Amino acid sequence: MHDIPLVDLKAQVRAIRKEIAEAVLRSLESADYILGREVTEFETEFARYVGTKHAVGVASGTDALVLMLRACGIGPGHEVILPANTFVATAFAVSHCGARPVPVDVSEADFNIDLDRAAAAVTKATRAILPVHLFGLPADMDRLRSVANDTRLVLLEDACQAHGASYQGTRVGGLAAAAAFSFYPAKNLGACGDGGMVTTNDDEFAASVQMLRNYGQPKKYHHDLLGYNSRLDTLQAAILRVKLRRLDEWNARRRSIADLYRRLLADAPVKLPVEPAGRRHVYHLFVIRTERRDELLAHLNALGIGAGIHYPVPIHLHAAYRELGYRPGDFPVSERLCREILSLPIYPEMTEEQVAGVAEAVKDYFANR
Ligand SMILES: *Cc1c(COP(=O)(O)O)cnc(C)c1O
Repeated sequence: MHDIPLVDLKAQVRAIRKEIAEAVLRSLESADYILGREVTEFETEFARYVGTKHAVGVASGTDALVLMLRACGIGPGHEVILPANTFVATAFAVSHCGARPVPVDVSEADFNIDLDRAAAAVTKATRAILPVHLFGLPADMDRLRSVANDTRLVLLEDACQAHGASYQGTRVGGLAAAAAFSFYPAKNLGACGDGGMVTTNDDEFAASVQMLRNYGQPKKYHHDLLGYNSRLDTLQAAILRVKLRRLDEWNARRRSIADLYRRLLADAPVKLPVEPAGRRHVYHLFVIRTERRDELLAHLNALGIGAGIHYPVPIHLHAAYRELGYRPGDFPVSERLCREILSLPIYPEMTEEQVAGVAEAVKDYFANR
């Protein structure tokens, strides 16, 4: 019997509890709880990390997507193209702006949005393409940029799973007009609660997001835009500053765990994640693929291994999207992935013995069936 969770947030806190406690106390005593100094400092540090001119802290990754889309002027009557295999928030953000999410199938090769299908989905109503760097692997941004340029669309990034990943040497978050990040606790950079960030190089765009997150006010009690209350907490910003300093080390650790999985599972009858040339994967999730997924999942769970499915249902088949009128069979690659993918435990504090234990359990399943 193993006891290996999918992610282990307690292990992360144990490793940095003193620094976190100091940051929390400092910001508690500052009583500067809303958009305090820690938020500004974290925004500056995060922008520097990503390599953009601006970073604007918001209340969650979902809000980062909504505010980014609103700042692009996206609303009723508009369509936004996105992958059919992603976390539902990518599409919900579009819907909450009053626009229509247009899912397209993903590529069998890297599980990210399929470039040809994205190009084919463009209509007169399309305003933006919103690729997702799924599981920590950057989408093929050069090719997406040329699709967007040819069709005069805004290219955006859902970077909620890919803090620190890079494409041709540029970090995600700086590869398009703007990007959205999530600091949900289990993300590669996670708060002790909710948080999010929008990054951009555009001054005006950053100013719009700053207004939108704070009741649409450029000046207190003057409301130019129909804004939101969606600010990153000072307390979370203070914690995130501590964690940002560890992000590269944590991502390097995720990469070496992925390497170890790759070596140990080389002969197992499963498909392993790819890392195409020029793209640096940060393994938010380590996702394998097998037709015997459900049985393998049950086998691992029975052994105390916290494997999971990301995600069991593609965007177009959620009950919430019945009104969009899609049917099973519309996006066959995404639908097949939902049946065949399996996320193995991966987190920076995971030991080599634990990785070996998981790999052994996977191999045992196939040896004994
Ligand atoms: C986590 C996530 C979001 C939403 O972020 P929250 O902070 O949970 O609101 C959006 N898109 C993707 C791809 C995500 O993984």
